[in-house]
This record gives sequence, structure tokens and C-alpha cells, in this order.
Amino acid sequence: MRTLQVLADLQSAVRSARCAGSSIGLVPTMGYLHQGHLTLVERARAECDLVVMSIFVNPTQFGPQEDFVLYPRDLERDRYLAAEGGVDVLFVPDVDTMYLGGSGEQQVWVEPGSLADHLCGASRPNHFRGVATVVAKLFNMVQPDRAYFGQKDAQQAVIIGRMARDLSFPIEVRVIATVRESDGLALSSRNVYLRAGERQQAVALSTALERGRKAIEHGERDPRKVEQQVLGHLSESAPEADIDYVTVADLNSAKPLERIRAGNVLVALAVFFDRTRLIDNIIVRVDSAALQTDEKAAAQR
Ligand code: AMP
Repeated sequence: MRTLQVLADLQSAVRSARCAGSSIGLVPTMGYLHQGHLTLVERARAECDLVVMSIFVNPTQFGPQEDFVLYPRDLERDRYLAAEGGVDVLFVPDVDTMYLGGSGEQQVWVEPGSLADHLCGASRPNHFRGVATVVAKLFNMVQPDRAYFGQKDAQQAVIIGRMARDLSFPIEVRVIATVRESDGLALSSRNVYLRAGERQQAVALSTALERGRKAIEHGERDPRKVEQQVLGHLSESAPEADIDYVTVADLNSAKPLERIRAGNVLVALAVFFDRTRLIDNIIVRVDSAALQTDEKAAAQR
């Protein structure tokens, strides 16, 4: 594995690969790698000849009160894990490489529009503008055939997929299922911040989402009622969690649903344990046959 900091070196590595007819996969990350990141690499490894991973803690996606400075970083450990995981090129640019003259100089942004109005976008103003902009830069720098993102960041996946489409990036955006600890907690670099008691309570994020899944599977079609059940379980099982949101949303637009209909429904949440913000979500498939049965049952009531 080669670790590259300089853009010209990255571009020359990518150019040689392309000239040799190799396909290129990109896995963008903020580092402090875990099995979630490495699963994206595995998928890229299976589908592409050259796997490029970027590690860049992007200042423009953090709000002024957020954890940019404290975000966990360990490049030596990441280099080891990335190499073991099958990364060919590890790109670790500094801020001046990604933002000429510094991030304060950025004038032209990729705006995610109404896709950022709800869920995390509602409580993190400008977060997705920062994400979309840095991913667009990485797309231009690496020019991959495919890029890999986690379902864990559901709204990010929606926005990047839509950005690729709306801005005509000739790149396939792949979204990979969330990797979890054995007790259900979604892997996240931020989990290291959790104190022991918080770590125990954090299991409630996934069990609360499963409560939501059950409610939908048992025929609940009012999204607000599903949200109430999820919230109820969270406040019972994770009393120290400060709940940011629980939302039943459309999987393709990340917009809250008015009514649950056939298709894929996203149930998403975010909570704080002290200053640590955790997110999680599940996708619930509602098929039209189940809906018809539910409607019949409702009509007979
Ligand atoms: P991050 O370093 O947190 O910005 O994450 C980099 C990429 O890894 C993003 O596309 C995330 O959605 C993805 N990712 C993070 N955690 C997980 C996980 N537990 N399972 C699958 N993908 C993940």
C-alpha cells in the first residue's frame, strides 16, 4: 500500500492505473478505522482493480460547537488496518490540499437543497454542504469508477447518490449495509468517546429501531406512532441519552413520511450521550401485499 499526501502523486498513481486499464474504487473516510470502513474496502476490493481510500477529517462539515478538534485520529493504526484490509492507495491530504488557501477560502459549494432539511441536516446546519463539497472534490481528484458509502449515514448516502446524478459524475455510488457490534451497536469512530454506562445504554439505539420495525411489520401505518414507540423504548432503556430526533422517512429523499406505504421505509435516529452524537437507522421493507391485508383488517375493524 502506498500512502500519499500530495495531490500530484495521487493523480499520477490513478493515471497510471487507468492507462493500464484498471478500474478504480474510492472509499472516502475520516479515519480511525473500524470494521464498517473495512467492509466498504472489502466490497471495493471485490469490484475494482485499484482501491483508493481517503482519510480526511473535513473541517467544513463540523459546526463551530462540534468535535472537529477532538475527532479521534491515529494515522499509524489506520495505515496498518487499511493495508491489511486491501487498500492500494491511502490518500491523506492536508487541509490546504483539499481547500486551497484554507477552508475559509471556499466560495463555491455543492448545496444539497431540501435533501438536507430533515434528520441530521435539521440539527447540523451546513453539515451536508460540507460533506457534498468534499466528496465532489474527492470525486474530481480520484475520478473513480465506483465510490463506497455506508448505510449507517443514511442521509449522506441519499445526498451523495443524488449529487452524482444531478452533477453528472460518471461514478457508481454503492451503499453498504451497516456493520454492528455483536450487541447491535452500529460501529462508529465516535464510540470510543462513550463511558462504560453510556456504552451499555447505547445498545438501546438498535433495539429501539427494531421496536419500530416490529410496529411497522405489525401493521402500524402512522409514522408518528412508530416514532413514539421508538422514542418510548429509547427513553426507558437509555435514560442518559439526549434524543435529537427519531424520524420515519422516505428512503430516497430522507423526508419524513406522512403515511407508511409500500416500499422501503427509513427509520432513523440521533442521540447525544453527553457531547457524543450517535446515529443509527434501519430500512423496513413494506410490501404491497402486506399493505392490502392491513387495509382490509382496518376496514373490518
Ligand atoms: P466516517 O469515517 O465516519 O466518515 O465514515 C466513512 C464511511 O464509512 C461512510 O461512508 C460511512 O457511512 C461508512 N461507515 C461508518 N460506519 C459504518 C458502519 N458501522 N457500517 C458501514 N459503514 C460505515
